[in-house]
Parts: sequence; C-alpha cells; structure tokens
Amino acid sequence: MEPIIIARNLKKTYRMGNTKIHALAGVDIDVMPGEVCAILGTSGSGKSTLLSLLAGLEHPTAGKIFIRKKPTYKMNESELVDFRLKHIGFVFQSFNLMPTMTAAENVALPLMFRGVPRAVRMKAANRLLVEMGLGKHLKNMPNQLSGGQQQRVSIARAIIAKPEIIFADEPTGNLDSVTAEQIMEIMCGQVRKRGATLLFVTHDPTKAEYADQVIHIIDGKVAKRERHGPAAGKTAQAESETQGEET
Ligand code: ADP
Ligand code: MG
Repeated sequence: MEPIIIARNLKKTYRMGNTKIHALAGVDIDVMPGEVCAILGTSGSGKSTLLSLLAGLEHPTAGKIFIRKKPTYKMNESELVDFRLKHIGFVFQSFNLMPTMTAAENVALPLMFRGVPRAVRMKAANRLLVEMGLGKHLKNMPNQLSGGQQQRVSIARAIIAKPEIIFADEPTGNLDSVTAEQIMEIMCGQVRKRGATLLFVTHDPTKAEYADQVIHIIDGKVAKRERHGPAAGKTAQAESETQGEET
C-alpha cells in the first residue's frame, strides 16, 4: 500500500519586512490510506502552515507534495479548488459554519457544490446529523447550538461528500475538555467507519492518543514520529500474524 499523503523536504518561508520566518524548514510526511495522523506541536511550531500546504491552500517555498499520487504542489488555483472539492474535507477550530443557514443546510452545502438536488442533499444531511446525535437540532441556526454541537455539524459537513481525506486544525481548541473528548471520539469514529484518512493538528498530547501515527513538530521540523495504530506498518503486520496463529 502506498501513502495517500506524501511530503518531501517541505519548506515555507514567510517574509516580514527584512526578516525571514522559516515556518517549515524541511518536513517529510507519509500518511497511509485509512490512517488517523496527528501533528503535535506547541503554538508557532508550524502546524497550521503544514496543514495549509498539504491542503493546497498555500504554495510551498520548496519541496514536493503528492496527494493520492497527484503532485498537488504543481497544480494551479483552479485545479486545486477542484481537487479539494472532490477529495478533501475540512474541520476548523472555530467551526466556520454559515451563520444564516440551519445546521442541516450547512451540512448539505458540499453536496450543493456537487450539483446534488436540494431534496436529496437535505435528506442525506438530516440522516447524518441524526446519526451524530443532532436529530433535534436539524433546523437550528449555528448560534442556537453549543460549541460541541457546532463542531459536530462541521464534522458532518466535512464528511458528507465522502472525501478520502479530512484535515482538521485544532478541532477541539475551542471546546471544554469533556466536549473535546466527545468530539475526538465522534470525529475519529466517523472517519474510521468510512475508511477515510484523517490528519489533525493539536498542541495537546492527550488528543494525539487518538492517532495511529503521531508526528511531533518543533520549530518547523519533524522532531519525532510514532506509530501505534492498526495502520502502523510493522506493528500492524506483527499483530495480524499473531491473530492468524490464534484462529
Ligand atoms: P502553529 O499552527 O503551530 O501555531 P503556524 O503554522 O501558524 O504555527 O506558524 C508557524 C510560524 O510561522 C510562526 O512563527 C508564525 O508566526 C509564522 N507565520 C504563519 N503564517 C504567517 C504569515 N502568513 N506571515 C508571516 N508569518 C507567518
Ligand atoms: Mg495553528
């Protein structure tokens, strides 16, 4: 199996007047299909920059990115827009819901962009929100929902069009600790159930425990890589061999 996300020697330098800020200073990433991957680092370490390069929201200063074997670092804006629409879902720290739309309308939005008729997309949105425990809030506006409820809506919006990859930047950063755990459970649960790949960013080591692979970044560089999940290369192989012996 080949990685679904590959980055090689990825660099991003920002210029602030005469000073250069090396937000990313040569980062290599491999994420396998179906893997849940955490990018763990303190504030300012380059996590959001990394996510925005991988998602094609910004261009790298140097380095290569391949998503689903496609060299996205070579794509122009309109190719990137199309690529994101077809293959990528997003979850943000501050939810980013449309304030004038109901919960269900927000969830249905990605299907609207794909030309799915209103009745069909609203039915799909309603069903997904019911599954995520928001059946009583389908018609609520975002400001009539708690933070945790808004983040559930935004997770539903990220997955409804069945993207292969979901990117999440500090998805629990605005939530209390109990709600944050619930959101990690529901986000990782939904992603795993669908066989999608999740790359999330966090500064909190306890959230990284939900991941199969944890990539620690310090000052724009990978400081450490850990794998401990089902997609964890050797470990997964060893485990499945052991299971084979038992049966
Ligand atoms: P994190 O998400 O880990 O907090 P960021 O990726 O946002 O870190 O930022 C990494 C570094 O790059 C920081 O020093 C930040 O100030 C700088 N940086 C990020 N975006 C910009 C930008 N648009 N212009 C200038 N500097 C930036
Ligand atoms: Mg950030």
